[in-house]
Amino acid sequence: MSDIKLRFAPSPTGYLHIGGLRTALYNYLFAKKNGGKFVLRIEDTDRTRYVEGAIENLIESLEWAGISHDEGVVVKDGKLTEVGDCGPYIQSERLDIYKKYVDQLIEEGHAYYCFCSKERLDNLREEQRIKGKVPKYDGLCRGIPLEEAKKRVAAGEDYVVRLKLPKNKDITFNDAVRGKVTINTDEIDDQVLMKSDGFPTYHMAVIVDDHLMGITHIVRGEEWLPSTPKHVYLYECLGWEAPEFVHLPTVLNKDRKKLSKRQGDVSVEDFKKRGYLPEGIVNYLALVGWSPEDGEEIMSLDELVEKFSFDRVGKSGGIFDTDKLNWVN
Ligand code: GLU
Repeated sequence: MSDIKLRFAPSPTGYLHIGGLRTALYNYLFAKKNGGKFVLRIEDTDRTRYVEGAIENLIESLEWAGISHDEGVVVKDGKLTEVGDCGPYIQSERLDIYKKYVDQLIEEGHAYYCFCSKERLDNLREEQRIKGKVPKYDGLCRGIPLEEAKKRVAAGEDYVVRLKLPKNKDITFNDAVRGKVTINTDEIDDQVLMKSDGFPTYHMAVIVDDHLMGITHIVRGEEWLPSTPKHVYLYECLGWEAPEFVHLPTVLNKDRKKLSKRQGDVSVEDFKKRGYLPEGIVNYLALVGWSPEDGEEIMSLDELVEKFSFDRVGKSGGIFDTDKLNWVN
């Protein structure tokens, strides 16, 4: 395989979760195993969740773990800067790029302006909830002729841009862990692609960036699996080839619940403060959801690179077991 490129794309909303470190690690292992590149991109389009200092903290945690990237955002002399030819690598610095593709989707009839007020959408959602239905946009603005919509935009009306999903179309893609996945568009919402503040949503930004940055494999948590059909459809609309998808099982605690802050330490920083060795954490995390063919349990980063493959990643959640971590450490 050539020109393999993977990315870790965290949002700067706080600390690096230990599950996020595992995602970064699996991306890194596959990239290195295949002589490819590993990119760090910052996904900061949700301005309401932005935390000051979070980018530096993410980079520091990755460095501590020994997971280094070839491209993207780095800290040099205490300042944030970037390396690589596909920048900017911080999404809030790429707004004009997203706008270009959103405009293209509108012109080609794959997206539309939506003028529905928050109040209308809240009422709609409430009605649907009472009827026991899954909340979904009802498509009111789908039929507004483009010329009319443009006039309303020019007149200063508030709007978002939504994806115009075709009715009753099966979207199929392959996932390296799940196999063939098919979802019908009737089960999916007309996703907002561009918000009223001019920022793209995650869904729009992620496909534009993964394409323009030449990402070949998308390795991320399985909470993104339901969003993938929208992404696959967007690739199709833009005439781009979709990358390979690899959705990782969620990191769970011993009760099979999502590992969360409420049950104790979940940030990489917490583990570092408690004196865990980076080698121990990385070794153990690799085993949460994956195992090598030879059953070996104690491995260096180089050995992990050598042995790693997606076909040995399990479908069910990876259990984070502190006793086992302590033993490995
Ligand atoms: N920004 C997303 C997150 O923090 C990344 C999802 C993806 O890798 O596509 O989970």
